[in-house]
Amino acid sequence: METLPCTGCRGLCCGPVPVTEQELKKIKKKIKSMPPKLRAELEGQKRFFGTCIFFDQDKDRCGIHSVRPAICRAFGLHKNLVCFRKPEAAVKANWSAAEAPVGILSEDFTWKDFK
Ligand code: SF4
Ligand code: SF4
Repeated sequence: METLPCTGCRGLCCGPVPVTEQELKKIKKKIKSMPPKLRAELEGQKRFFGTCIFFDQDKDRCGIHSVRPAICRAFGLHKNLVCFRKPEAAVKANWSAAEAPVGILSEDFTWKDFK
C-alpha cells in the first residue's frame, strides 16, 4: 500500500471532517478510556485555527488514530482526496461515505461532546 509523507505536516490536512454516528460512538469510547492526564494534555494543546480538535501537535499525529473517521483513513489514497505532498498516491477510485454523516467533527462536535 502507498504510504504518505505525513511526518512533519503537523496536522496540515487535519481539519473539520464529516463523522458518522458509529464513528462518534467509537471516538467517545476511546476518549473516555484515555488516562485522564493524557486526555487533558491532548485537549489542552494549542492548535492552529481550523486544525482538528484531536490532532496531537506534540506527537505530530492523530490523537485518536485507532478510531479516526473513515475519511481520515481514505485521505491521500483516492482520486477525490489528493494529498498535495504526494498526489501520485491518490490512485483509488473516488471515495464516498458508506454511511451518511451526522455532522462535522471539530465544528458540530467538540471536546465537550466526548466527555
Ligand atoms: S496526507 Fe499529505 S498533507 Fe496530510 S499529513 Fe500526510 S503528507 Fe501531510
Ligand atoms: S481524526 Fe485524526 S486523522 Fe482525522 S482529522 Fe482529526 S486528527 Fe486528523
